[in-house]
This record gives sequence, C-alpha cells and structure tokens, in this order.
Amino acid sequence: MKILIAEDQALAAIFLRRTLEKMGHEVIVAPDGEEAWRIVQEGNSPLLISDWMMPRVDGPELCRRIRGAPGERYTYIILLTSLDRRDDKLTGLRAGADDFLTKPPDPDELALRLEIAARILTVHDQLAHQNSRLAELAAVDELTGAKNRRRFREDLELLFAQADRMNAPLSLIMLDIDHFKEFNDVFGHPAGDEVLRRVGSILRASIRGHDVVARYGGEEFVVLLPATGRDEGLDVADRLRDAIATNPWPHRLVTASLGVATSNESIPSSAVLVEQADRALYRSKRTGRDRITHYDECLTEPTIIHV
Ligand code: GH3
Ligand code: MG
Ligand code: MG
Ligand code: MG
Repeated sequence: MKILIAEDQALAAIFLRRTLEKMGHEVIVAPDGEEAWRIVQEGNSPLLISDWMMPRVDGPELCRRIRGAPGERYTYIILLTSLDRRDDKLTGLRAGADDFLTKPPDPDELALRLEIAARILTVHDQLAHQNSRLAELAAVDELTGAKNRRRFREDLELLFAQADRMNAPLSLIMLDIDHFKEFNDVFGHPAGDEVLRRVGSILRASIRGHDVVARYGGEEFVVLLPATGRDEGLDVADRLRDAIATNPWPHRLVTASLGVATSNESIPSSAVLVEQADRALYRSKRTGRDRITHYDECLTEPTIIHV
C-alpha cells in the first residue's frame, strides 16, 4: 500500500518508515502538516499516518482540512499520539480521524490496524466504482444507447461554457427521422424501435470520442461537437445523414433531416443554440428532407411560422 507519514521528528519518521517498508509498503514522508496537506491534495495517498503535534498545521487540523475538502478518493487517517487521554481522542475523532495509535507504534498492532485500513479503503473504492457506473447507467437512454436528455442538458451547459471560455466554436446537430409516424403505422412500433436503436448505434459509431450523442425526444437526436466550426459541423452532419440513408435497412429506406448551429459571441446561451439548430432542422424538413441545413441559411429568409 502507498502510505503517507506526516511527522516532524526525523528519528520518529525514519523508524516508522523502516517499519512500514519492511512490511512491504511504499512510504512518503512529509516533515509537517502543511506539506502532508499538499501531498494529500495530489490524490495519490489514500492512507495517512499523522503525528499529532507538529508545527504550523498539527494532526487534528490536517484531519479537518482533509475532511473539509473531500477528494475523489477517501483518505483513511491514523493519528499518532503519545497522549492517551480521552479528551484528546475525542478531539481527534471530531476532526475526522479513523483510528489512533500510541507512539511509538508496536509493529504487530500497526500491521493489524493497516489491515483494517486496507479493508475499509477497498470498500470505499468499490463504492466509488459502483457509483460512477450507476451514474453512467442513469445517463443513458435504454433503447438507443445514446445519452438521455438530462445528461445532454448537463453536457451542453458544460461544453457551451467551455467553448465560451476557450473562445472555440461548439457545433450542435439536431436530427429528426423522416416520416417516422408513417413507418410505425406501416411496419409497427417494434420495427420502429429497431430503427431508433440502429440510428443510435450509427450515430455513436460515427463520432469522435469527446463528441456527445443524445436522444432528445421520440425520434430526435442531438450531437454536440466541441471545438468544431460551421464547415466541419456541416461535414459531420452530412456524414451522419449519409450513414443513415445508406444503411441496409430491412423494411424500407430510412432517412433523417438535420439542422446545424454553431456557437459564436452573439449567441447568449445554450438554449439559443438549440433553438437555432431546431430552426435549421425544420428548414431541412421543408426543403425536402434527407438533407442538412446550417442555421446561417435561415438568416436570409423571412421568419417562419411553424405549423
Ligand atoms: P417528419 O418527417 O416531419 O419528422 O415526420 P414524422 O412522422 O417523423 O414526425 P411526427 O412528429 O409526426 O412523428 C414522430 C413519430 O415518432 C411519432 C411516434 O409514434 C414516433 N416515435 C416517437 N418515439 C418513439 C419510440 O420510442 N418508438 C417508436 N417506435 N416510435 C416512436
Ligand atoms: Mg510532533
Ligand atoms: Mg420529430
Ligand atoms: Mg420525424
């Protein structure tokens, strides 16, 4: 295990380091609480053995800092103390310590306490892993494997803000399957579901790793393309359109219409970007379907009333 020691007395630190290294652990020593705090923040020290009394930042204060700013991984903290009074233990527990050892620690007891620490850290890691897996599952649309609308909104906000900060374009594609109501009416809902599933996998297979594909609604999908300008966005949209239109569909040809919008300084919010892509999509529908339109092309025409 990787263990961080915070100890201001060099001899005590050397003794503890040797004991731990003999047990096969990898040890880092910080000569005071301030330095230990810096190392903990790097996130690679899940187990900390800290002295109680140290200059500047002492053991309990170090505990409070760590518990006050929980990182990605849990830090298991053992406080070392020559004090063995009840009040001190309460102070340590309140500060967030997991365990105590009297100084100098007895090697057998130390080994046992480390086993407990390892067990608890393993449980924490498993929980964190399961939580991130659950979060992923909760973000995915079951039928199509695309992200769901909630995750799309979150990603859109993040990417829109990032694009603004980095002064890089963000393109958004909105896609709607053509005459899909009729497809369902003629071939049945299960066949329609099969089309949605297939469109989802075509889209996911056609994008780069940091692009986002989400199901926006019934037969509508959105694709977020970070660091992608107008022309490149149109290229991607046309590739997606083509991949759908040329897929060997079992019942009959399936096509989709797409609208593209690209962020720039004049677009105040992500909602406006969505509106623009939507407007571009409707122009693709009106002008014949199975085609792509950039919002730019809508600017030259009079305001349309959707019916
Ligand atoms: P347009 O080309 O103008 O988009 O015509 P459309 O028929 O695709 O548009 P409309 O909005 O009238 O119909 C959308 C259809 O999508 C209606 C609905 O039954 C179908 N749909 C929505 N969600 C699902 C789904 O989860 N499974 C299936 N099979 N069909 C769905
Ligand atoms: Mg000390
Ligand atoms: Mg629709
Ligand atoms: Mg449709």
